[in-house]
Amino acid sequence: MKYVGAHISASGGVENAPVNAHEIGAKAFAFFTKNQRQWFSAPLQRSSIEAFRNNCDKYGYKPFQILPHDSYLINLGNPDDMGLLRSREAFIDEMTRCEQLGLDRLNFHPGSHLGKISEEESLDLIAESVNLALSETKGVIAVIENTAGQGTNLGYRFEHLRYIIDRVTDRSRVGVCIDTCHAFTSGYDLSDAAGFKKVFDEFDRVVGFQFLKGMHLNESKKAFGTRVDRHDSLHKGEIGDEVFSLIMNDPRFDDMPLILETPDETLWAEEIEDLYSLQRK
Ligand SMILES: [Zn+2]
Ligand SMILES: [Zn+2]
Repeated sequence: MKYVGAHISASGGVENAPVNAHEIGAKAFAFFTKNQRQWFSAPLQRSSIEAFRNNCDKYGYKPFQILPHDSYLINLGNPDDMGLLRSREAFIDEMTRCEQLGLDRLNFHPGSHLGKISEEESLDLIAESVNLALSETKGVIAVIENTAGQGTNLGYRFEHLRYIIDRVTDRSRVGVCIDTCHAFTSGYDLSDAAGFKKVFDEFDRVVGFQFLKGMHLNESKKAFGTRVDRHDSLHKGEIGDEVFSLIMNDPRFDDMPLILETPDETLWAEEIEDLYSLQRK
């Protein structure tokens, strides 16, 4: 089964996320468990946690259909000691929130070396950060997202994802999320069937589909290989429609959240419908 949805708003409380997802006909959703632009947020209230769980039950969302995203401020590969400490504390808080909500995965961007240390040194810090967070929490999988490789961001090669996985002690609690826009602009050509096959064969060889815990389905405003992260709505960007049809008809992407992070939220209901209509029966 395919579970398509979008990164929806949880404003007013996390309990609103499943309601907002249901309203656009989503079978999956992503959301922030706290304000993504602030370091500190008040802990989740018991009433909010209960309402979230009740709404998920009511609208039929199981943990495997939900992919919370962490704050953009967190940099688990930060070369600066204070910055790293703050990021690790914030990440543990995010993992704890997921645990409290009964969720089984948290999507995060690996981190940035900020031009101060090597890629490998920064990736080592990221792996250490993940190990720390896993030892402080229970049951939540840390899901590493591939990036466009903008600036000094790591995660723009499948090898980076593998490098981190190799250094995580509990392999059952690490996974990856592939963003189609990020893959395309970081140099993985998904614009036709041959490219799609090549990229996901490589993904399987380097990382392994057993680690795939979700996808971000985004078009790209920027051209192939530009290493710039600018999402576009479906049918509008540089990648073209074919990759989305290939994903919707490929069982390797079954039973995981397939999340739109496209810029025009008024189109989400239509985009979700469009993606389902691509499925050959
Ligand atoms: Zn993404
Ligand atoms: Zn992005």
